[in-house]
Amino acid sequence: MIRNPIQWPNGAQCACAITFDMDADSLIHISRPADSHDRLYPISMGKYGPEIAVPRILQSYERLGLKQSFFVPGWCIEQYPDAVESMLKHGHEVGHHGYLHEDPVRHSNDEQAEWFGKAMDAHKRVVGNVPKGYRAPVYNINQGVFDLLLEYDFEYDSSLMGDDIPYLLEYRDQQLVEMPVHWGTDDWPPFAHYEEIGYMMPVKGPTDGLQPFWEEFDAHYEAGGFFHCIWHPFLTGRLARWRKVETWLENTLVEKNVWFAPLRDIARHVRSWAQDNPVRTEQLPYYSEPPLTTATTTARS
Ligand SMILES: [Zn+2]
Repeated sequence: MIRNPIQWPNGAQCACAITFDMDADSLIHISRPADSHDRLYPISMGKYGPEIAVPRILQSYERLGLKQSFFVPGWCIEQYPDAVESMLKHGHEVGHHGYLHEDPVRHSNDEQAEWFGKAMDAHKRVVGNVPKGYRAPVYNINQGVFDLLLEYDFEYDSSLMGDDIPYLLEYRDQQLVEMPVHWGTDDWPPFAHYEEIGYMMPVKGPTDGLQPFWEEFDAHYEAGGFFHCIWHPFLTGRLARWRKVETWLENTLVEKNVWFAPLRDIARHVRSWAQDNPVRTEQLPYYSEPPLTTATTTARS
């Protein structure tokens, strides 16, 4: 089912990463800058992440012996240092996720470089090291951001959807590992309802909302793949949903032969596996200009 499968450490049948993007209330501040400070309900919905859900998630991970990855915007690192310090204390990875959850494609490359650098400063000051992994807010990475990832010596990106399992990206004669995402394992579709940012979805119950993720796991487990969830503490960290996830984790760890690890560790494994084995590689950029521009120019000439 998967061409060029990757062999995982210790004979594990599937690599697994439950990643959390701790966006907190950055979402309302970036989308409604004029009056976000006085929109109390969305602020409280976001704050639930670092203040209620993250401690709950970390407690489960500690009990189950799991180390995982969190992606945190720089502003959230500054605003919620206790949550970030708890992640670090328990050995989890904290990756780069913009400064205030700004969408890269809505900014010039120069503006983006400034946001990106501000987030790097927050990592250095509070996290105490530089991140090696990046996930673009709303997955909207562009080539300007890839330039920054190379400039700051990142090891992997986790914003693209080009494969089921990790693959390599070649850009400007350098390589990054891509840890692919997709909407089928993102908790925004089943659980987010956020009128202020134009996201109106019928919220699913815990069992219905989580079921598609478990089906994704089953397929990856059978194929020897990579089960990768992209979740948010203020969504999947809510009480009833996390209770279901915790039960699934307990059962999976006992019944299945899986490798749960931070994305950084999985990316490093892929890079070393690629030295002696075929790993699919994509070249960037995909296009040097929009196809419509070329078509229009050709039609005119
Ligand atoms: Zn996010």
